[in-house]
Amino acid sequence: MELKRDLAIVLRAIPFEERHRIVSALTENSGLITALARNSIQSRRFGGALEPFSASEWHFSQRPGAELCSLSEAHIRRGYEGLRKDFEKLALASVFNELILKLAPQGEPCPDLFRLHSNALAYLEESDKPGADLALLNFYLAKLLQWNGHQPQLELCLVCQAGLDGLLENGIPETTLSCLPADAGWVCPNCRTEQTRHVRMQGGFQNSLLRVSPRAIRDFQWGLLLPIRKAAAIAQASRQEHQELFRFMEALFVFHVPGFDRQPLRGLRFLDVESSLQPLPVSPPRNQLPLA
Ligand SMILES: [Zn+2]
Repeated sequence: MELKRDLAIVLRAIPFEERHRIVSALTENSGLITALARNSIQSRRFGGALEPFSASEWHFSQRPGAELCSLSEAHIRRGYEGLRKDFEKLALASVFNELILKLAPQGEPCPDLFRLHSNALAYLEESDKPGADLALLNFYLAKLLQWNGHQPQLELCLVCQAGLDGLLENGIPETTLSCLPADAGWVCPNCRTEQTRHVRMQGGFQNSLLRVSPRAIRDFQWGLLLPIRKAAAIAQASRQEHQELFRFMEALFVFHVPGFDRQPLRGLRFLDVESSLQPLPVSPPRNQLPLA
């Protein structure tokens, strides 16, 4: 059995058989791992290292082929306690954790993803912005799309190749761009037609028209180009514009990112964020089907 050391950020911890905990974490060199922390409920040997968001150096072992590792030690590096003291921050950080649980590879190194996640948690903990920071959520999603290899084309209109810069310079404030999630881009108002395929999928989205402001698309670009902290410092779009951009982000994930379905992220319930995804209808039990 191989003993490993790695940096880990706790994503989820659940009690197991009264005395133990099962902890899922994002690690720098082994991706997403799940470990059994024996006797971690009463004993203090793990300190706060198993609380959600805690970043620690883990010592763990894993039998070949086994899914569950065994955690022997965890030395805390950063507890991110500030995230647990503020409800909005806690809710947003939980959404970040939920995204990592869906997307992180298992058993593979993912240093870029690890850095993104720790930078986002650090920025969120230190931020003094009131309320849920929707722009930060969008920057995080932009970076995940990029990491996944699904970076959209945001510089030019997909049809006439009009540039975003020109639209921003000459545009009237109410100009909106039509988003085409399937094509991972947008079309300008001149190219918007009755046939514009705003959304190709059947149902699923509450709004068949996904429109965003050029300013929000520019922020999206900054989110792809710059570290989260820098993007947040120069973001220009309003909260409402970021709400619209969030719907486009969701659609991009549903269309392009494997492992993503049409279920809205659970953590969104605690944030003042509107999802355009609807849970898929649950079929009624067989005995309740109307008689033909
Ligand atoms: Zn155009």
